[in-house]
Amino acid sequence: MTEETIFSKIINGTIPSTLIYHDDLVSAFADINPKAEHHILIVTNKPIPSVSDVTAADEPALGRLFTVAAKLARDFKVDQSGYRLIINCGPDGGQEVPHIHMHFLAGGKLGGLGFPEKH
Ligand code: AMP
Repeated sequence: MTEETIFSKIINGTIPSTLIYHDDLVSAFADINPKAEHHILIVTNKPIPSVSDVTAADEPALGRLFTVAAKLARDFKVDQSGYRLIINCGPDGGQEVPHIHMHFLAGGKLGGLGFPEKH
């Protein structure tokens, strides 16, 4: 059995969030501690702990992370100007929540690698 995470609780509505998108495979909501004007987390509905745990069966959900990122980019009108997608993996990668999620960051020039400075 897969363990429930804080993001599972957001997805099932136990914990409140600013939900931006939801379908059968992924959900997207605003990061509680935004590092850019637009900082959205796109999360697999299934609580896969990390990229190190994915299997071929997860490919549809993992692919959906990208199609939803592209949709957000269009919605925020940054698909041409640019944005950043980050997936942190494991302790040394800075992953705090053990449930695969893609950070979508946009809004102005983001600077070098890693999270931009908060605006
Ligand atoms: P990571 O370090 O890649 O695991 O990112 C975890 C992210 O989850 C951080 O950017 C947090 O600000 C964010 N976060 C933690 N709790 C919540 C919450 N309840 N609602 C929205 N975002 C959250």
